[in-house]
Amino acid sequence: MSEEAQLREAVCKIGRSLYARGLTFGSSGNISVRLADGSILATPTNVALGELDPARLAKLDPTGRQLSGDPPTKEVPMHLGMYRARPNARAVVHLHSTWSVAVSLLDGLDPDEPIPPLTAYYVMRVGRLKLLPYIPPGDPELGRAVEAVADRHHAILLANHGPVVAGTSLEAATYALEELEETAKLFLIVKDRPIRPLTRAQVEELNRRFAS
Ligand code: ZN
Repeated sequence: MSEEAQLREAVCKIGRSLYARGLTFGSSGNISVRLADGSILATPTNVALGELDPARLAKLDPTGRQLSGDPPTKEVPMHLGMYRARPNARAVVHLHSTWSVAVSLLDGLDPDEPIPPLTAYYVMRVGRLKLLPYIPPGDPELGRAVEAVADRHHAILLANHGPVVAGTSLEAATYALEELEETAKLFLIVKDRPIRPLTRAQVEELNRRFAS
């Protein structure tokens, strides 16, 4: 099977898995992958991630111009912003997953560390989460805002909206988003009690140990 055919199947399989586990609902959330030639496959607008058809994914050139398939998600600008800033990114996953969205609603968060480094796996998979201020979904400005920080952050939380995560593979992006969602849940469970996040030295030690 060609790379493109494999990725079309993989996007639909991940979509079904995310949908079946309640990480996305209705027609919310979107997934894209970048092929070796730079073109992009993106999930169509107004389709549930549980109901994707490999043959109907939108195919776009690197600038976002549509080449084939159904009309893409309105949130394409944000995906393109991630890809422009991260040459090694091969996939972007964006969900309205409940616990991450809940954190995105809290007032007074540090935009450079909206969730503390609670666990080693959060540090290893998500790294330093960046919180961006609210911009309406699909607005080209949201794409520019993502692009401006994405060279330093592969995981971004959009205020009053949800998480968007890039990875060097579809699996890496999905696992990082799932780690973020579970850590957001932990954070909301413990945040009103005294907590002991990893220290800066412990985070740096993990980064050295697992540097890719
Ligand atoms: Zn969204």
